[in-house]
Amino acid sequence: MTRHLTTTADLTDDEIEAIFDEANGYLDGQTNQKLRGKLVINIFFENSTRTRSSFEVASKRLGAEALSLDVASSSESKGETMYDTAANLDAMGASAIVIRHKNAGAPKILSKYVKASVINGGDGAHAHPTQALLDLFTLRQAIGDVRGKKILIVGDIRNSRVANSNIKLLTRFGMKVVLAAPPHFLPKRSSIKMVWNIRDELDGASAVMSLRTQTERHERLIYASLSDYAANFKITKEALGDRNIFVMHPGPVHRNVDLEDGALSDPRSLVLRQVHNGVAVRMAILSKFVLGY
Ligand code: ASP
Repeated sequence: MTRHLTTTADLTDDEIEAIFDEANGYLDGQTNQKLRGKLVINIFFENSTRTRSSFEVASKRLGAEALSLDVASSSESKGETMYDTAANLDAMGASAIVIRHKNAGAPKILSKYVKASVINGGDGAHAHPTQALLDLFTLRQAIGDVRGKKILIVGDIRNSRVANSNIKLLTRFGMKVVLAAPPHFLPKRSSIKMVWNIRDELDGASAVMSLRTQTERHERLIYASLSDYAANFKITKEALGDRNIFVMHPGPVHRNVDLEDGALSDPRSLVLRQVHNGVAVRMAILSKFVLGY
């Protein structure tokens, strides 16, 4: 039976460990021919800065053919539905379809219509499983055993699929997650600890993950200004102090709103390591789903 990756819950703990083991072997950036003759199609209905290129690089490093469909110039703009477009791509023999869509649940629905494995590249504010997996991988690489370690997630958590997927995955792997944001950016309900400032919670945290303000998902302006937000929630070198704490961000970074330049370039920043590791983790994910093991 074809398997799909719509949320991290589609994978068991053992499968995640196996993905990480395999990804470790891909960190050197070498190419191989594991997926030679296979076709991986990226279909992104929403903008992407790095997820799309990361999947494309990952597919090519595995020897697969990689096609990124520019949706703006595709038949969608001529009125063809997502299902028709995807079914046509499926008929071309795709082994995997990586989809990003502004509607939560789109990858799940698509998976019912195609033979290929569907991999969620981000759906609305719902989930971004490959980002959470590469974040956990990066945390482990930096910290070692993450069980019992605290991570502070800061920013527009309510509208962030990265936060959603990370809250689920990091707590599942034993991390203590604390959410810090102004009230209108916090989930309406959560069993996770939530605070309205960062200062008190940086103490004892092994990592802080900053998130972008998801302006495209706000129906109206729900905060006074980005600079007001930044005054309280921007991660600065001064706020980090001399703490032993790693800094993360999924990108794209709003410089000097989410992260101060100095915090981004600080040796404790894992931001580019996340991007590097993302290719290796996605190689392992593509191999698993395309070859079906
Ligand atoms: N790149 C991430 C996403 O697609 C984070 C962001 O856009 O802020 O969700």
